[in-house]
Amino acid sequence: MRQDRIDFVHNSERALADPTLHSSVRRAMVRFRELQRPVIGEIEEWQALREYAHRVKLHTLSHLDQYLEQLERQIVAAGGQVHWVRDGAQAGRVIADLARSRDDRTVVKSKSMTSEEIELNQVLEAAGCEVVETDLGEYLLQLAGDRPAHIIAPAVHKSKDAIAKLLAEKLGVPVYDDAERLTRVARDALRRKFLAAGVGITGVNFAVAETGTIVVVENEGNARLTTSLPRVHIALMGIEKVIPRLADLGVFLTLLPRAATGQRMSSYVSLLTGPRRAGERDGPEEFHLVIMDNGRTAIQADPVMRESLACIRCGACLDVCPVFERTVGHAYGSVYSGPIGAVITPLYQGLDVAGELPFASSLCGACGEICPVKIDLPRLLLELRARVVQAGGASWAERLFVRGWVATMARSGRLRLVAPIVRLLHRAVARTGIPLPYPFSRWTQFRELPPPARSSFRERWPFAAVGRRR
Ligand code: SF4
Repeated sequence: MRQDRIDFVHNSERALADPTLHSSVRRAMVRFRELQRPVIGEIEEWQALREYAHRVKLHTLSHLDQYLEQLERQIVAAGGQVHWVRDGAQAGRVIADLARSRDDRTVVKSKSMTSEEIELNQVLEAAGCEVVETDLGEYLLQLAGDRPAHIIAPAVHKSKDAIAKLLAEKLGVPVYDDAERLTRVARDALRRKFLAAGVGITGVNFAVAETGTIVVVENEGNARLTTSLPRVHIALMGIEKVIPRLADLGVFLTLLPRAATGQRMSSYVSLLTGPRRAGERDGPEEFHLVIMDNGRTAIQADPVMRESLACIRCGACLDVCPVFERTVGHAYGSVYSGPIGAVITPLYQGLDVAGELPFASSLCGACGEICPVKIDLPRLLLELRARVVQAGGASWAERLFVRGWVATMARSGRLRLVAPIVRLLHRAVARTGIPLPYPFSRWTQFRELPPPARSSFRERWPFAAVGRRR
């Protein structure tokens, strides 16, 4: 299906016009950052761990075929079944076939960005299944018919009042104003669904090739119920989720919760190797792992962009991004938002669809610094911007401006000639507040143009003067 072009500027204007939305997201982002800082700071070897994780991921991505085949062998040996799927449509068909072949068509699902990526719920519902999201945030969004606004905090844009009204309207309970009570209402409704479900679907945080173990990390216990109560467990993963050895897992489990939620350890870490064995009291009778490409092989073959597949979906780059904080996830027009979304959405959907997203960044570098697997996000954003321009995606005004800029900055004589004229114009515009013409209007639409400094950098910098005297 052909995707419409993502109009980030238009989408973000809507978010910017909603002060309540902005303040609740900002509050959550500040809180995340406050939690992350001390638990990251207490690990002396944090930088070394990031470097190690980065290398493990890049090594695995260079040997994906080998590790994925090893993973398949181990899962089959443990009694599980593996399904290889090329794209989202095929993944949907395989999972729907597995789900609808059961008597009980209630499907419980724990949070999975990969399933959001392929709109799995819609596929399963079209196949006659009742699908219930069991992560609290995802459950609320499902009731509201809304989409996630953040990778790990999907309902971050919903206020407590909005949640209370939503639960009252959908579940017929009073409008409670206390968060614990609201959680209990959702929990009671979900418990009934868990007990009725024949199939549980989860994502995969890591898949260990050496042992055939899939690892699911969460804080609510809903993924553990999803993998242990229904008779069938289906796990959906992108090909990039494999890691070579169980020994590497400790590093990722140190990095992920600290960067994601500011926790030393996530509340529930489930290591699942195949279905229930003889003599075991719980666990599914069937275990299916769906390994999906959906555009990842093309990214893996791109020597520059391959690094983006190292992402462990912690969401930390969203928390520190000043653009995300103001525009909120929906503006990105994709389930993947923030800096990592601005990189991978154009790779998955094409520059013609998502070519605006790499420009949704101030390039402050905060995303690259926080990323626990050391993905150089600013470099990838710049590379994508260059590709957009090479593909003719820049307007004539931008091209003209950049050509003029390059011609001026390349020669100090030209800069000395042009700078005083620009400063005169700048001062006049700043004083009068006249709106600037396009494309500068995109900058001043939401910001004031500050007046220029009294003297330029070159005038103030003594070495520049020395250089000129030579
Ligand atoms: S790019 Fe890095 S910081 Fe952003 S979600 Fe992925 S792992 Fe986390």
